[in-house]
Amino acid sequence: VDSSPISAGRLQHGAVRDGYDAVLFDVDGTLVSGHEPIGGAPETVAALRGDGLRIRFVTNNASRSAGQVADLLRRARFDAVPEEVGTSGRVAASLLAAQLPHGAPVLVVGADALRQEVCDVGLHPVGTAADGPVAVVQGFSAEVGWRELAEACIAIRGGAWWVACNGDVTVPSPRGLLPGNGALVAAVTAATNVGPIIAGKPHPALLQHAAAGVGRDRSLVVGDRLDTDVVAARKGGFDALLVLSGVTSAAQVLAAPPSARPRYLADDVTALKHPIGDLVIVGEQAPWQVTLRGATLHLRSPATAVGQSAAAALRALCAAWWPIGSGEPAVVADDARSRDVLERLGLARVPAAWVRAPVGADAYRTVEVELLVEVRKV
Ligand SMILES: [Mg+2]
Repeated sequence: VDSSPISAGRLQHGAVRDGYDAVLFDVDGTLVSGHEPIGGAPETVAALRGDGLRIRFVTNNASRSAGQVADLLRRARFDAVPEEVGTSGRVAASLLAAQLPHGAPVLVVGADALRQEVCDVGLHPVGTAADGPVAVVQGFSAEVGWRELAEACIAIRGGAWWVACNGDVTVPSPRGLLPGNGALVAAVTAATNVGPIIAGKPHPALLQHAAAGVGRDRSLVVGDRLDTDVVAARKGGFDALLVLSGVTSAAQVLAAPPSARPRYLADDVTALKHPIGDLVIVGEQAPWQVTLRGATLHLRSPATAVGQSAAAALRALCAAWWPIGSGEPAVVADDARSRDVLERLGLARVPAAWVRAPVGADAYRTVEVELLVEVRKV
């Protein structure tokens, strides 16, 4: 009888190729940040190709065509061709074409790439509500401004069908999180009291289309967002690896609802070069020990944790919390090593007493008064 503490369903041997034959990568925050590759990502994708895995790039960002995404990836040192790229703009255009007659006018709020996708499916892109659009399609573009949003409001109030390429409220950049398509969609929703149909992730169509194009059964989805990449993967029946190199914090991972919990978790995609079973599956992670006391998770590491990534500790915390808890738990460290890793994960809490301590001139005055009292007592 095997009495090892390996949990059910865990991959016990080998790297990604032992469990999967294709990898569907998100782009922003997963492979690149802005125009720059995330450290080690180009080499990792090349290594996976070398192992015989098929690679696809699936992006919710509709500001670039498949060809432009492949160009961006190649400039960031990834080997990529347009046929390997799926965009939410293409899925949105396909969705419109399936519902509208050939040549129907569609108001495009977004980039030239989205306008081209609308043309490519036989619809007629227009620029104002006065052109009588029967639908509005909205995708990310840094050029979209108030005038375009106003045209969308008029068309939607006039009864046009509204499809958004994606709902990501932020896009990661080297300068931090910037407003994404979801933020601009929210402006239109606020003004119309109407919500769009979302074509990209979390709808699984983008991933399913990419997986079908690969022609294999077992695809692994890799992304940096819980509410798009992971939810879409789970809806589509795919396993998901969440990477912490993009927009998602450790606290958000711990608080993820069941529908957004990934099977695997890692700092970045370089984890895919290592055996996936022991290193990145959400589960027990020696030497980290997690115990739940009341509603608080206690993290400790009795053995040396040198060489252990912070993500390993987070996997152990998730494995302890997810089956029984919901929302964000309190996490405390029981030793110095654990305290260090919680700080790196942004999970270290400032004690409540410190938060409430008075600051500024009044604080010093209070301290002085207490000191005077002490002196008089003496
Ligand atoms: Mg992303």
